Amino acid sequence: MTTKKGTKVLTELLNIQGIKVTQRSQLQGIGIILQVESTERESHCHHCGTKSNRLPQNPRYVVKDLSGGKQPVFLEINRGQFKGKKCGKPFSEKLDFVNNRRT
Ligand SMILES: [Zn+2]
Repeated sequence: MTTKKGTKVLTELLNIQGIKVTQRSQLQGIGIILQVESTERESHCHHCGTKSNRLPQNPRYVVKDLSGGKQPVFLEINRGQFKGKKCGKPFSEKLDFVNNRRT
């Protein structure tokens, strides 16, 4: 079951700055999967500090949301990849909320 309806509401429920829910799926016996991505189109390179554009490839990874509801909620994160304009070094989008929840 997959629906695009109500993702705006989910984005508000999730209440994470700079993150929007793009899709919600329910997997039988597993829980709810929310596909999320950053609303930022640009990011600053850690190496040279220049503004860089998002690269087309987006590796996804999944973290378990620790909100403690009845059903497990997983966030499938579409993490942006960037390339520094000056230094040409690739870097990943910094997602603060992921680091905070990893401990
Ligand atoms: Zn750079």
